[in-house]
Amino acid sequence: MSENCLFCKIARGEIPSRKVYEDGDVFAFHDINPVAPVHFMLVPKLHLGSLLDANEKHAALLGKMLLLAPRLAREQGLENGFRTVINSGKGGGQEVFHLHVHVIGGGNIPPMVKRD
Ligand code: AMP
Ligand code: ZN
Repeated sequence: MSENCLFCKIARGEIPSRKVYEDGDVFAFHDINPVAPVHFMLVPKLHLGSLLDANEKHAALLGKMLLLAPRLAREQGLENGFRTVINSGKGGGQEVFHLHVHVIGGGNIPPMVKRD
């Protein structure tokens, strides 16, 4: 838990969000600025800055989050699949430094990398 972390505050219910799912370890909520018709994020309740801060002790938690992604995606209507994105560190374009898995889908999902 980190006092001034936005996603810790959201996971604790101190800042409102549109909740998708919650259990003892994980919180999921819709992105405030969606890039597709469905765009939510899975975060651990444990404050972890990014994958760069993860180690073997977090293996079960990370596995749980990845296994939740398809289940929640289906529940949000993404029957045909979805994209997961995990930005790690400034070099990965991360803006909120609490580990989160973006789950994105619906509409037209463009290729990840544009090639000429
Ligand atoms: P990243 O660039 O991977 O760190 O993603 C951070 C994401 O958090 C962005 O997609 C933002 O739109 C989203 N975001 C920022 N503030 C909030 C908030 N209060 N509620 C929901 N999503 C947020
Ligand atoms: Zn946090």
